[in-house]
Amino acid sequence: MSSNPLIIEKTPHILVLGMGGTIAGLASKPEENPLQYQAGQVGVDTLLNHIQSAIPQGVALVSKQIANINSRNLDESLLTTLGLAVQEALNDQAVKGIVITHGTDTMEETGLFLQLTCGKQALTQKKRVILTGAMLPSNAPGADGPSNLLDALRWASTAIDNCPGGIFAVMDGRGCMAMDLAKRHATALNAPIQNSPSSSVSLINLSWLSGVKAVGAAWTEDLPIPGEGEWPWVEILTSHAGARPQTVGQWLGSGVQGLVLAGSGSGGFHDAWITPLEKAASQGIAQVRTTRTGAGATLANIPELDPSGRMAAGTLSAPRARIALQMALNAAKQANLAGKPLTWQDFFARIADLPEIR
Ligand code: ASP
Repeated sequence: MSSNPLIIEKTPHILVLGMGGTIAGLASKPEENPLQYQAGQVGVDTLLNHIQSAIPQGVALVSKQIANINSRNLDESLLTTLGLAVQEALNDQAVKGIVITHGTDTMEETGLFLQLTCGKQALTQKKRVILTGAMLPSNAPGADGPSNLLDALRWASTAIDNCPGGIFAVMDGRGCMAMDLAKRHATALNAPIQNSPSSSVSLINLSWLSGVKAVGAAWTEDLPIPGEGEWPWVEILTSHAGARPQTVGQWLGSGVQGLVLAGSGSGGFHDAWITPLEKAASQGIAQVRTTRTGAGATLANIPELDPSGRMAAGTLSAPRARIALQMALNAAKQANLAGKPLTWQDFFARIADLPEIR
């Protein structure tokens, strides 16, 4: 572990895990074109050095570089590594909180993954895990990374009025549950959080906080982290005008274990998919329906009856539904190995039924 040499890792500290992203990005001509840059260029130690003078007195930091990637290239083995590092830190009495610097493109996936695997543990240990990132590279004029990182460090380290342990995210002065992240704007500084139920980081919103507590009460057991190379293979297919049966048919016999169907409207899909999806179900390929609209919920048996082997994803977006289905398939496999007759639907329902924060 790389660490500030002045800090002894056994003393109480905040652990900062670096994953890369734009927050660690560098533009070659930052004044002329700050949006043309390489993500994941600067180490997490350097990001912390940039803000050293503003770090609240008495907050000791230890950093660890898990990866330094553009998060559009995030893969499942890296999620396994990150999840295990978070679990270990939550169990470490010297670690008081955890901040993760991460690319914004796939923060949505990482946020739900950490909630499902570490959310209960974070609540029990009364520690906050905070994801943060940036929309501008580190050397751009007005870069947003330093203030986001500072806000995240404050959230992770301060006893905030009644705010419990859990998996959160901070961007552009606002905090949300990490499972509510959704990047729904290409460039805005608040892109990952603008459509998420959130609170100002400086003045906590009490109705948001009661939603956070409801999620904490409902999420009673973390799911196992799949080992590297053990993640179930799940693909996302989007229905659209002119959709073809081959889009589904090509997966038959491929070894794919699940399909997330990003349907139109309330989660229906093109009739061209009906027959190949029936064949997929007969091969045991799990199916989950979401909506491509970007908002609202996909409900069971709406607009048509769901056959067995297909479930509606509630408010989960397609990228989140994919992570949820992977975790549910893995949890069911582990349960079956332990002699418990549980199905992926049992686990997926727990995830899709989590309270919605408004
Ligand atoms: N493509 C970058 C990444 O996800 C975008 C960002 O961090 O904002 O790493």
